Amino acid sequence: SIPLGFFGGIGAASKRGVLVKGSNYLEALNNVDTLVFDKTGTLTKGNFAVTEVISAAMPEEELMAIAAHAESLSTHPIAQSIVASFSGTIDENRVSNYQEIAGRGLQVTIDGKNVLAGNARLMSEHNIVFDAVDSIGTVVYVAVNDIYSGALVIADELKSDSKAAIARLKQLGVKTIVMLTGDNKKTAESVAAQIGITDVRAELLPDGKVEQLEAIEANKAEKSKVAFVGDGINDAPVLARADVGIAMGGLGSDAAIEAADVVLMSDEPSQIADAIDVAKFTRKIVW
Ligand code: ADP
Ligand code: MG
Repeated sequence: SIPLGFFGGIGAASKRGVLVKGSNYLEALNNVDTLVFDKTGTLTKGNFAVTEVISAAMPEEELMAIAAHAESLSTHPIAQSIVASFSGTIDENRVSNYQEIAGRGLQVTIDGKNVLAGNARLMSEHNIVFDAVDSIGTVVYVAVNDIYSGALVIADELKSDSKAAIARLKQLGVKTIVMLTGDNKKTAESVAAQIGITDVRAELLPDGKVEQLEAIEANKAEKSKVAFVGDGINDAPVLARADVGIAMGGLGSDAAIEAADVVLMSDEPSQIADAIDVAKFTRKIVW
C-alpha cells in the first residue's frame, strides 16, 4: 500500500507547478544523484535571434528568404526563430518535399531546387564544400543544389534561473550534472560555463543522447537514480529511458509530456529543485 503522505507530497508538488505522475517517482526524486540536462529549450529559452548572415553564393536577402522558406514547415525552435526574423512573407507554393533530418536539419525543395539547411554534419554527409563558421551560436548552413550558399548564426538566451537552479541542485546533494546536446561544441561549452556545468557532451544525434544516458545509468551508484530533463524536441526517447524523465510542460511537445514521469508546468529549471525539496520533505513525514 502507498503511505498517505505520498498523496500529500504529490499535491504539494502540484501546488508548486510540478506534476508528478506517481508516488514512486516522488520517492525516486529523493534518490537522484545524477541530473542530465538537454540544452535547447531546457536550459536555454529556445528562442533564437539571427545574429550573423554570411552569404557565399547569393545576396544576403536571398539567403534569408531561402532559409526562411526551408524552415517554414519545421516545428523546431531554430526553425521558428528563423521564420520569425524573416521580414518578407512565406509563399507556401514554393516549398515541397519537406523532410526533417533528426539532429542535423532538413532537406526540402524550393522553386524546384534541392535545399539543405542544418549543421556542419549535414553538409559533410552530403559532401558539400563549405567554410566552417567559428562563431558562438548555432550555425545553420544552407546549400542549394549541392552548392554552399551561406550560413546564418543564431543565438539563444539562457533561461533566467538556469544558473541559480544548478547551484541549488548541487546544494540539494545532486553529485553529477551533465549536459547533452545536438548543438556544436563551442556553443554548448559557452552555455555550460555560464551556468556552472562542467560535463558537456555536444554534437550528439538523438540516438547518441540515449547511448550517453544508458552509459551514465550503467555506472550509477547502487540505489541512486538518474533523472533526465528535456523539452521533448528530439529527446523524447531519452525522457522515456531515464529512471526519472522530467519534461518542460509549457514548451514541450505532447510526446514529451506523455513520455515523462514528472512535468514542470512553467518550464523553469528551478522547479526541479522545488520537486526534490518536496520529495525530501514528504519522505520525512512518511517514514
Ligand atoms: P538540442 O540537443 O540542442 O536540443 P537538436 O537535437 O534538436 O538540439 O538538434 C541538434 C542540431 O541539429 C541543432 O543544434 C542544429 O544544428 C541542427 N538542427 C536541428 N533542427 C534543425 C532545423 N530545423 N534547422 C537547422 N538546423 C537544425
Ligand atoms: Mg532540445
